[in-house]
Amino acid sequence: MTDFSEELAALDALTLRRTRRVVDSPCAPELVVDGRRILAFCSNDYLGLANDPALVAAAQEGARLYGLGAGASPLITGHMAPHAALQRRLAAFTGMERALLFSTGYLANLGVVPALVARGDAIFSDRLNHASLIDAAKLARAELHVYPHCDLAALDAALAASSAKRKLIVTDAVFSMDGDLAPLPDLLALAGRHDAWLLVDDAHGFGVLGPQGRGSAAHFGLASPRLLVMGTLGKAAGAAGAFVAGAENAIEWILQKARTYIFSTAEPPLIAHALLTGIDLIEQGDARRRHLAALIAQLRGTLQLKRWKLLPSHTAIQPLLIGDNAETMAVANKLFERGLWVPGIRPPTVPAGTARLRITLSAAHSGAQVEALVAALMQLEREPA
Ligand SMILES: *Cc1c(COP(=O)(O)O)cnc(C)c1O
Repeated sequence: MTDFSEELAALDALTLRRTRRVVDSPCAPELVVDGRRILAFCSNDYLGLANDPALVAAAQEGARLYGLGAGASPLITGHMAPHAALQRRLAAFTGMERALLFSTGYLANLGVVPALVARGDAIFSDRLNHASLIDAAKLARAELHVYPHCDLAALDAALAASSAKRKLIVTDAVFSMDGDLAPLPDLLALAGRHDAWLLVDDAHGFGVLGPQGRGSAAHFGLASPRLLVMGTLGKAAGAAGAFVAGAENAIEWILQKARTYIFSTAEPPLIAHALLTGIDLIEQGDARRRHLAALIAQLRGTLQLKRWKLLPSHTAIQPLLIGDNAETMAVANKLFERGLWVPGIRPPTVPAGTARLRITLSAAHSGAQVEALVAALMQLEREPA
């Protein structure tokens, strides 16, 4: 019997061992880590809502009204008034007929994809899709076609060659490690031409992109009965959970079939109650989104590097490509010593040879904080490794 010591040593040898740090303060640009104040560029709290006083107050009110736990799955007694209200609010906000809540985005994808397709069907998945979509495809047992990143011609050919009964295209809207946007209008057009469904994972677009933060589909002005959107509520929405939205029958079918919905305890009602305020804050959040856009422009306009490269992203995810695993982690560690926290991302999360710092910006950051990061990065690049 192995005790995994060799396996763990192999991870160490490749600088692939993952570690955690304990944060002892609320999610914000300034964190307390091991008693030290650290300026962080790591969270997906793009609008700075995770510790917003109005959201925290709404959660407290939710706890007073509904207690803590839901006590059961939604199809037993766990579907409570705030869950129902939030589902209606999310459907209206995203312009879809109906929405269904899940406990996390990971569980939403794991439930939705196998509900939509099974053996005899086919999934067409972008090579850079999030791990939850990759795992969901395995669970579904449908034939899997992985197409090169945003390669519409390859996708078109794969769809044309498929004789599957039902076809499902799945894509991140904003790619989580690259920050670029999928060509959603073209993908929807292909879905139409080949009678396929399109499932868009909007984890990083919901709340940030589109008018009033209504998400990536709204950003492109998309509407179609074959479009399903999965949005997460733990990123820009500042809380936890996720939803899938789409046409009435498709959502009803997912409710009937998604095992991660049926066999899992409903999200705590105080979270759903708080998120009703969270969606209001997103809707009224144009000033936050404008400030975030200004910070993105500041970073891209002032960071001047020779060897390392900012990937061409216009979203809050600003990956700095370094390439080598060891150098990437060394830079991340040096930044941390200086009081700046930017996570290094290595394979298998990203392809081999493309290790990077994943800088994420939030409306809660200040221009001075971005300036501090830019100065430190330019200095570290010039230092000998
Ligand atoms: C974070 C993320 C998820 C998972 O959402 P959680 O609510 O954190 O489980 C799914 N898809 C993408 C693209 C993500 O970035």
